[in-house]
Amino acid sequence: MKILKIDHLGIAVKSIDGGKEFWTDVMGLDFEGTETVEAQKVTTAFLPVGESEVELLESTAPDGPIAKYLEKKGEGVQHVAFRVENIEEALAELKEKGVRLIDEKPRGGAGGAKIAFLHPKATNGVLVELCQRDE
Ligand code: ZN
Repeated sequence: MKILKIDHLGIAVKSIDGGKEFWTDVMGLDFEGTETVEAQKVTTAFLPVGESEVELLESTAPDGPIAKYLEKKGEGVQHVAFRVENIEEALAELKEKGVRLIDEKPRGGAGGAKIAFLHPKATNGVLVELCQRDE
């Protein structure tokens, strides 16, 4: 498996409108609009930071994963995403190593990425996302 870089940090916020203020007004990051991924009941906003990005995540439904996260833990870093060269290969390798996966097969993420999550029980409590982008 080849990990290329930390692609983004996923940060759960109650609302992107309110949540983005710190990142744009204080930290000076560029806000490039939002994208809703209905399948995951989430609206995302990516704010580029050099080679990586901050991803703000707002729930679109009370039973979505971000709504549940906010209920349990409040706003904060929800996942860390690593960009891999080949996500199918990475998942096969992790499976062979006995790593517990949330997604055995990649699904569609924001920006046309292929993404898959590893189970936090297998990763020191960190929700790890793998993503592959063709660009
Ligand atoms: Zn993400």
